[in-house]
Amino acid sequence: MPEAHSNPEHVDVLIVGSGPAGSTYARVVADARPDVSILIVEAGPRLRGTLGEHTSNMSPDDRRISQRLAQGPDAGVDRPPPHPALSETDGQARTAPFIFPGLFPIGDGAAMPGEFGLPAAAMSTGVGGMGVHWSASTPRPSGSERNPFIPSAELDSLYDQAEGLLGVSKDLRGDDEMLATLRDLVAAEFDSDAPGASPVGYMPLAIGRRGNELQVSGTSVILGDLADRVPRFSVRPETLARYILTEGDTAVGALLEDRMTDSAYEVRAERVVVCADSLRTPQLLFASGVRPTALGHYLNDHLQMTALVKLDPANVRKWPTPESPSIVGSVLIPFVDGIRPMQGQLIPLSRTGAGFHLLPESMAGAGAEEIAILAWYGAKDIQVGDAVEFDESRADPYGMPAMIIHYTLTDADRRVIELMRANMARCAEVVGSLIAEPTLAPGGSSLHYQGTIRMGPNDDGTCVCDTYGRVWSRTHLYVGGNGVIPTSTAANPTLTTVALAARAAARLAADLSA
Ligand SMILES: Cc1cc2nc3c(=O)[nH]c(=O)nc-3n(C[C@H](O)[C@H](O)[C@H](O)COP(=O)(O)OP(=O)(O)OC[C@H]3O[C@@H](n4cnc5c(N)ncnc54)[C@H](O)[C@@H]3O)c2cc1C
Repeated sequence: MPEAHSNPEHVDVLIVGSGPAGSTYARVVADARPDVSILIVEAGPRLRGTLGEHTSNMSPDDRRISQRLAQGPDAGVDRPPPHPALSETDGQARTAPFIFPGLFPIGDGAAMPGEFGLPAAAMSTGVGGMGVHWSASTPRPSGSERNPFIPSAELDSLYDQAEGLLGVSKDLRGDDEMLATLRDLVAAEFDSDAPGASPVGYMPLAIGRRGNELQVSGTSVILGDLADRVPRFSVRPETLARYILTEGDTAVGALLEDRMTDSAYEVRAERVVVCADSLRTPQLLFASGVRPTALGHYLNDHLQMTALVKLDPANVRKWPTPESPSIVGSVLIPFVDGIRPMQGQLIPLSRTGAGFHLLPESMAGAGAEEIAILAWYGAKDIQVGDAVEFDESRADPYGMPAMIIHYTLTDADRRVIELMRANMARCAEVVGSLIAEPTLAPGGSSLHYQGTIRMGPNDDGTCVCDTYGRVWSRTHLYVGGNGVIPTSTAANPTLTTVALAARAAARLAADLSA
C-alpha cells in the first residue's frame, strides 16, 4: 500500500468516477452551489474531444484511439466493432462473450463453475466512463420497474430532469413512414396483451443533431460547460481512489493514487461520493472497510436475447440519401407487470444512423436495408446470493481486491427467457421472418448491472444506502450509479441512474453548510 502524503488538499465535494452518475452529481451540486469546490477523480485517462465526448461523435481515428485508451488493462488492444451476427444457438447462451471496443472484462472470477455467471460483464476506464460508449437508449421504466421509495410525482419530475441532463430526444425519426408502419404492425400484435398498459411506441434516445450530423449525448452533455463556468470544478484523470478515509463513521476524503507516477496522496473532503460503477463502487467500499451486509448482493443484469429479422419488402422504405438527415429510431415494446416482464426493441438497421458497418459481411450489400435487429431485455429474478464478492488475497489489475461473481438463473428466469423467445418470434412474424433465431447472450452482455449498492427506506440489511444515496451507518458518504436501483427492471438503466443521482446531489448540495 502506498504511503499517504501530509498536508492534504481539501475540497468540498470529492466524486470518484466520471461517468454519467458522477457527472450528474457534479453538475447538480455545481448548479445549486457554484461557490463550492468539486473534484472528480477518474482512474482512466482523458480521451479525445471535449470532456466526456461520446466516441461516436469523434473522427474514426480519434474514436479508435479513445476506445483503446479506455480499455484499462487491455489498453491498446484492438477489438472488433459491434455487429449483430449471432453464433449458432445452443439453446442456452453463446459461448464466446462479446466485449465492446472501449471496455475490458472482469476476467478470472466472472463465472464460477456450474453457474451462469457474468462472463461478458465489462467495464470502461476513461473520462466519461461508459457514457462515452453507450447506445443512448433512454426509456422510462414502468410499473414495478419504478422506484417504489420515491413519491410517484417526484419520480416523474426527476425523469424530466434526467431527460434534460442527458439531452434525450423523443423524435429523431421525423415522419418516417417505415418506422410508423413497423410500429403499427407491432402495436397491433402486442397492445392487446395488456389493454391500458404502456403501448408499443418508439425508443427515446439521448441523441441530437448538429446540422445533418447526429451527436450522441452522454457524459459531455451532462457536464455541459461546467469546467468553464465553475472555477472550482475539475476532473482529474489517471487518478485511482484506493480507499475512502474515515474518522469514526464519517467519510473525510480518500487516498488517491496518481497512476502516471504511482504516488499516493490524500484529498480531504466535506462529502465523498462514489460513482465507480456497479462492480467497482462496492469494490472501493469493501477496500475501505465499509461493508454493509447487502454490499455487492442483489446483483442483477438484464437477460439479453438478440435475433435478426428479414423485413417483409412491403414494410421497407428506401434509405435516406447521403444528403438527407439520417433517420434514427426503433420500435419499443414496453415492460408490462405480470404479462411481459421484458422490454423489446425492433431496430431496422437502416434507421440506426450507423450504416452498413454494423452488418455481418455475409449480409451486407443488396437487401441489407431489409434487416432489423431484435434486442430484448428480460427482468431478472433478484436473489440475495447473486453477488460480486471480493478476495483480499488477490489483486485486480489496479491493485484492488479481486472480484468473484456468483450469479445463477432461477426457474422464473428460465420462464422469462422462454417468453422472450416466443415474443421475439411473434414480433418477427408480423414484420417479416426470422433469419437468426433468438439467442440468449452470456451473462453480463447487457452491461446493465444493478442492485449491488441498492437503496432502501430503512437500514434493514437489504440495502446499502438510503433513498438519497447516503450509505447507511456512515456520514457524508454517498453512492450513485446503476447499483443503487433496487427493483427488477427491463428498461435500460442510465436514465434512472441520472434521475436518482440528481435527487441525491440536490440533497447533498442543500446539506452542505453555506
Ligand atoms: C456499448 C454500451 C452501450 C450501452 N448502451 C446503453 C443504453 O443504450 N442505455 C443505457 O441506459 N445504458 C447503456 N449502457 C450502460 C451505460 O453506459 C451505463 O449505465 C452508465 O455509463 C453508468 O454510469 P456510471 O457513471 O454509473 O458508471 P460508468 O459510466 O461505468 O463510470 C464509472 C467510472 O468510474 C471509474 N472508476 C472506477 N473505479 C474507480 C476508482 N477506484 N477510482 C477512480 N475512478 C474509478 C471508472 O474508470 C469509470 O470511468 C451502455 C454501455 C455500453 C458500454
